Amino acid sequence: MRTLRRRGLLQKWRRKAKSKKRKAKSEKQNTKSKKQKAKSKKQKAKSKKQKARYKGSSKSAQITERLKMKKRFLIFILFVLAGCATPRIDRTYTAVSQDSRAQYLIIHYTAGNFESSLKTLSQGPVSSHYLVNQDPPTIYQLVDETRRAYHAGVSYWKGATQLNASSIGIEIVNLGYRDNFNGVEGRTYFDFPQPQIDAVIALVKKIVAEHLIAPDRILAHSDIAPGRKPDPGPRFPWKQLADAGLIPWPDAAAVAERKAAFELLPPDIVWWQTKLSQHGYFVPRTGEVNPVMSDVIGAFQMRFRPAKFDGLPDAETAAILDVLTSASSSPSAAVPPTVPQTGTTMLPKP
Ligand SMILES: [Zn+2]
Repeated sequence: MRTLRRRGLLQKWRRKAKSKKRKAKSEKQNTKSKKQKAKSKKQKAKSKKQKARYKGSSKSAQITERLKMKKRFLIFILFVLAGCATPRIDRTYTAVSQDSRAQYLIIHYTAGNFESSLKTLSQGPVSSHYLVNQDPPTIYQLVDETRRAYHAGVSYWKGATQLNASSIGIEIVNLGYRDNFNGVEGRTYFDFPQPQIDAVIALVKKIVAEHLIAPDRILAHSDIAPGRKPDPGPRFPWKQLADAGLIPWPDAAAVAERKAAFELLPPDIVWWQTKLSQHGYFVPRTGEVNPVMSDVIGAFQMRFRPAKFDGLPDAETAAILDVLTSASSSPSAAVPPTVPQTGTTMLPKP
C-alpha cells in the first residue's frame, strides 16, 4: 500500500513539475515574442530613418541638377548673345550707283475728320507717312520716310506696281464727298482750305528735294488705282502744284489749238488707249471701249480738267492728253501687261 501511495505522490509531483515547466516555457516564448516585436519595431524605425535619409539625399541631388541646368542655360544665352553682337562695319567706301527708295509721292484725302483719320492711319492696317490736318494745318509724321507705309494698295504707274514699297504717302484730312439727293445726281466733293494746301505744297517740296522724285511721279491715289479710288478728288488744286514747279502742266495755247483739231477729227479708241498708257495708266489696248478706260479718263479729267470728269472721251481731254504726252521728257511708258500685277499689299484703304 505504501508503495502505491508513494507511486501516486510521485506521479502527482511529476505532473506538477511538468506543468511548471510548460508554464515557464510558455512565459519564455512570450518574452521571446515580445522581444521579436520590439526588434521589428526597431527595424521599422530604422527603415523609416533610412527612408528619410534617402529622401534628403534625393532632394539635394535635385537641387544640384537644377543648378547644373541653370549653368547650361546661362552658357547658352551667352553663346547666343555673342553670336548676335553688332558686327563692326567699315563705311569708308560708297557706291556711286544708288538713289532713294522713295520714287513716287502719292496724295490722298482721308474721307473723314482728323480724329477718325488719325485713328485709322495710326492704329489700323493702313497707314501713311504724313497726315495733314485742316485747322490748324499741322503736318503729322506717322511713318518714317525710310520705312514702308500702307496707303497705295493695288497700284500701277508706268509699269511699276506695289507702289507702297517705293512711295511716300501724304493723307490730307478732308471729308471727301457726299452723294447728292433731292433730284440731283452724282457727288459733291469738299473743298480744301488754302492754309492746308499751302502746308501740303511745302511738304511736297521738302520730300521732292530730299528724294529727287520726278515731277511725273507726284500722283493722285486715283492715278495709280483708277476706278477703285477717287482721292484726292476733283477739288484738289493740282494747278497750284504745277505753279509751284512740282508737276507737269499742259500749255493752255497748245491745248486750245489741238482741241480744235480733235473737234474736227476725234481720235479713235486705240489712240486713247495708247496715249493713256503712255501717260502712265494701266489701260489694256483692246481697241474697244471698256470700263477700265472710262475710269482712267475720269481720273485724268479730275486732275487736269476737274470741271467735268464723266470719264467720256472728248476733244478737250484728248487735247490735254496729247500735249502732255508729246511734251513729256520722261522715259516712255512701259507696255502694260494684259492683267495688272498685284502688289503684296492688297489692303483696304479708308
Ligand atoms: Zn487714298
